[in-house]
Amino acid sequence: MMVFPGDEVGYSEEYLCGDGCYEKDGRIKASVFGELHIDNDSKLVEVKPLKGEPVILHPGDIVFGRISDVRSNMAIVEVIAKKGEEKRSISTLKNATLFVSQISDAYVKDISEAFRIGDVIEAKVMQVRPSLQLTVKDEDLGVVKAFCRKCKNPMRIVGSRLQCFKCKTFEKRIKLSKDYCKPIGIKVRE
Ligand SMILES: [Zn+2]
Repeated sequence: MMVFPGDEVGYSEEYLCGDGCYEKDGRIKASVFGELHIDNDSKLVEVKPLKGEPVILHPGDIVFGRISDVRSNMAIVEVIAKKGEEKRSISTLKNATLFVSQISDAYVKDISEAFRIGDVIEAKVMQVRPSLQLTVKDEDLGVVKAFCRKCKNPMRIVGSRLQCFKCKTFEKRIKLSKDYCKPIGIKVRE
């Protein structure tokens, strides 16, 4: 299973914190993006960074990324993997911008209607240099996984909204990918 920096991967009481992890408040968290390894005999938890020839991104590539910041006219996206090449790391630039004008053909007033920090999105690379820029305007692109603002658990689609499976809170994202919550190469820990 692939995990993101900051994802909880175990409890300090139960497991030993190995490479690629750190401990905070009794929990073990991933410090790098990579593959989670849990050895149940030695009780060692490790996160191993991705190996293999890094992927070089080109305009038109479809990528997965996580929203790391939301500003008034753009979102900052940490690009994690290229679709279809999820086991390989990304070379060079990983921080991309996604302007509010690239969310939908319809007018989007507030970018937080579309994205919240922590959401995982499926997006298309528009430009690589001088800066990495993404778009989710295509019909099949958008948020693939969203997390509840209250309790941070994943949300599922209920009608036209999203509902937290744990605390039942409703939220909305105006641009969901058609792959929302379908199994994808990148799995976020639940
Ligand atoms: Zn919740």
